[in-house]
Amino acid sequence: MQLESLYQEIILDHYRNPRGSGVLENALGEAHHVNPTCGDEVTVRVCLDADGGLQVAYEGQGCSISQASASVMTELVGGADAATVDRIREAFLALMRSKGEGEPDEDVLGDAVAFVGVSKYPARIKCALLPWMALQDAQNRAGISAASD
Ligand code: ZN
Repeated sequence: MQLESLYQEIILDHYRNPRGSGVLENALGEAHHVNPTCGDEVTVRVCLDADGGLQVAYEGQGCSISQASASVMTELVGGADAATVDRIREAFLALMRSKGEGEPDEDVLGDAVAFVGVSKYPARIKCALLPWMALQDAQNRAGISAASD
């Protein structure tokens, strides 16, 4: 199977079988972000588990890219500490800036490597980034961002 169609399959699988979709009880912070050019919406909610790991859930609607991105993100950052979440988000942002030339680190990005092809299409980049921006906002509101040093 070609890598590109494999990546397409990963995105469609997350779209059809979303991970982490739902409402988080006792959320410490939430953020609702909209991508008007495509009509995507996502609400991300966060709180901390007993070990200080991030718990995250989302609700959303929109195109397959935006919703699959939310699902992949939730799977990746669930249970991670704030510094790790930042590192993963930076890696994803770098991938989205790569214009399709990125060589993503699967150890860091997991299924998010499938979005490398999306970075060739500026209009779709916004779709892919939507949940990640909402996550950052939700974390800020909850006061669970990594210390910036
Ligand atoms: Zn979209």
